[in-house]
Amino acid sequence: MIRPTVAHVDLSALRANFAAIAEYVQGRSERSRTRPPGVIAVVKANAYGHGASRVGLALAEAGAQLLACADIEEGIALRRAGVETPILVFGALGVSDVDGLLTHDLIPTLSSPMAARTLQAAAARHRCRLACHLKIDTGMNRLGFRHDNLTRTMPEVVAAANLDVVAVYTHFATSDDPVHGLMTLQLARFERVCAALPGLGIRPRYRHTAASAAILRDERVWFDFVRPGLLLYGIVPPPLSTTLPLRPVLGLESRVVAIKGLRVGETVGYGGRFRAEHPSEIAVVPAGYADGLDTRLAGRGVALVRGRRVPIVGSVCMDMIVLDVTGLGAAPGDEVVLLGTQGDERIDVCEMAAAIDTIPYEIPCRIGSRIERIYNP
Ligand SMILES: *Cc1c(COP(=O)(O)O)cnc(C)c1O
Repeated sequence: MIRPTVAHVDLSALRANFAAIAEYVQGRSERSRTRPPGVIAVVKANAYGHGASRVGLALAEAGAQLLACADIEEGIALRRAGVETPILVFGALGVSDVDGLLTHDLIPTLSSPMAARTLQAAAARHRCRLACHLKIDTGMNRLGFRHDNLTRTMPEVVAAANLDVVAVYTHFATSDDPVHGLMTLQLARFERVCAALPGLGIRPRYRHTAASAAILRDERVWFDFVRPGLLLYGIVPPPLSTTLPLRPVLGLESRVVAIKGLRVGETVGYGGRFRAEHPSEIAVVPAGYADGLDTRLAGRGVALVRGRRVPIVGSVCMDMIVLDVTGLGAAPGDEVVLLGTQGDERIDVCEMAAAIDTIPYEIPCRIGSRIERIYNP
């Protein structure tokens, strides 16, 4: 049994997006005769809601050199799904199971002296060397060793005999903002750190800094690896644009389960916020905020029915929304597209995000666990 509301995940679009990004960054090496950047495919948060197991396997098959996830548990889930590609864990090592890094062959991010001690102890216990990526905080002020304090913090990293710092990385705070100066400052700090590390006894082979927006912004930040997330899923971080041939990976569809008429003056849903100004027809769709539809979509969002854009009216309920389908002759069983294409119309993630004043990242990430993901190979 499958509920009427389903998410379609197009794995061939995903692989094509991966290939487009890989080809795009490889263009630089042809121009400048440097080693082509590899791609670290970001599949954190259940692959931005698309389903980490299938997405991880598809990206490995497409040629991703590394996958990246948020924490050890996500990395273990990828291994259990059969992913054999190297996996980088971005997050801080908190209370989670550090031994899982070693038993499941994950690459941790080294982001504090405390992490160095914890990882060194775990690697020594397992009598092995542990490859790590060193994270430098160049201005995001979140995770990572402060860029301006390394003479004090690096000795502990150097002394950790079982740790191999194979890469150094940082993350930009404003790469989607073409006028903000912080990205340039962060880049300068990162380059200064990279130049100083060998003198501190650390010689990482690789450098990486660029998530989706930075990849589009400036090829000087591609270094040895790029780290796309959003772009892989066919979504371009606003306000940026690209000529890359990206295809949306996610579709969200449902079916009309009931149609009903409204007399003038009648209202719809909790709070009675939508009032019929003329005789109207409404369609009930079985997807609500428990499925990840934002409550702010009421009165702002749209859906596609019979090839037409129709407004979401009333209130977004836990399990239902209501559409104004007046004049369309809609019937129970009609296909409803919340994200995707129907006829000549299309609703993409960026449109839905803009309608409710949020970032596109939030839309796929919030699609609920109650929604079945159906994978097109
Ligand atoms: C999430 C994340 C990315 C990917 O970001 P996108 O904007 O989705 O491309 C890259 N690097 C780090 C450290 C991240 O946390």
